[in-house]
Amino acid sequence: MLLFTPGPTPVPESVRQAMATPTLHHRTPEFEAIFKEARERLLKLFGMDEAVMLASSGTGAMQACVLNLCKTKALTINAGKFGERFGKIVTAMGKELVELKYEWNTPASLDDVKKALAQNSDIDALFIQVSESAGGLRHPVEEIAAYVKSVNSDIMVVADGITAVGVEKIDISNIDALVAGSQKALMLPPGLAMIGLSNAAVAKIGSGVDYYFNLGTEIGKQGKNTTAWTAPTTLIIGLNAIFDEIDKEGLEALYSKTIARAEATQAALESIGLNIYPTVPAKSMSTVMDEEAEAIRKLLKTKYAVNMAGGQDHLKGKIFRINQMGLIPVNESVWVVNAIEMALADLGRRPFDGTASKTFNEVYFKEN
Ligand SMILES: *Cc1c(COP(=O)(O)O)cnc(C)c1O
Repeated sequence: MLLFTPGPTPVPESVRQAMATPTLHHRTPEFEAIFKEARERLLKLFGMDEAVMLASSGTGAMQACVLNLCKTKALTINAGKFGERFGKIVTAMGKELVELKYEWNTPASLDDVKKALAQNSDIDALFIQVSESAGGLRHPVEEIAAYVKSVNSDIMVVADGITAVGVEKIDISNIDALVAGSQKALMLPPGLAMIGLSNAAVAKIGSGVDYYFNLGTEIGKQGKNTTAWTAPTTLIIGLNAIFDEIDKEGLEALYSKTIARAEATQAALESIGLNIYPTVPAKSMSTVMDEEAEAIRKLLKTKYAVNMAGGQDHLKGKIFRINQMGLIPVNESVWVVNAIEMALADLGRRPFDGTASKTFNEVYFKEN
């Protein structure tokens, strides 16, 4: 079975092997050396001033950012499950919230952000997804972040890059916190969250708030190559192993191949009459809206050995999402679009003639 859900993604064999080594104690020079290596590589991946790792799923890092980077009022962008989650965290943490809400195929508009900031001069943090995984859309984060900083450079720009870090090069010049998670583009098991931080964010965090998610404590400890609490040692060993895999061809190759796969997949899906759901698709996944989404997904799983994700909430049964994140062998991606075309033939929608894989190959191999 090919795992093509947009998180969790498959863990490469070499990474699984690295994580099968005997458990180390975390307060040892041996582990500190491993931690140091992972930290340096993570700083390079983010391209930011500081980085911390947390033993939690991605949501824990989102909560840590709300707790430590928003003091007065948060502005959140809700164009899907994960943007909605930022709003729920803000409310649960007892902070004031201004939420901009969009249909799940529609990116945030800069004009709405401008209005919200004009009407709420006490907003001190913006929370936005780079790639909103609910519908697979790409927000104009760079443009919005630049505007927010031009209005008031003290406003913290927190970007959830859980399905963007490792997918594309993100311009971090106006971003204060960039969140990543282990189980998406970094192809690790779930359980490790990472946050890249600007110097301004580090200054605002200061000694930090909260206990487990106190970023001040973590910044202090992790600068000394250790963690406040027991580190997820196995996942950090895995992180170095995945960086080894990525480094074989380099980060630029990972980005360009991911983007090429996403573009080739989109062209292939459109060539067999399918509709791409988001108006601005992210490169992390390809989302199709279709009346028969569930039937297609079921055929792929039972007949063609491909596991894709469906939709949630009001999009349940209406969309399917194909992962593009990670070091995906291109032959697998060709098979996925071919299998979808065969499923359409099974459903009597169109005769199979190999159009999807032909289109994929034409687009992908022209670029690479
Ligand atoms: C997966 C995901 C998360 C984190 O979810 P967890 O289940 O807590 O790891 C957050 N934001 C986005 C955009 C995601 O895709």
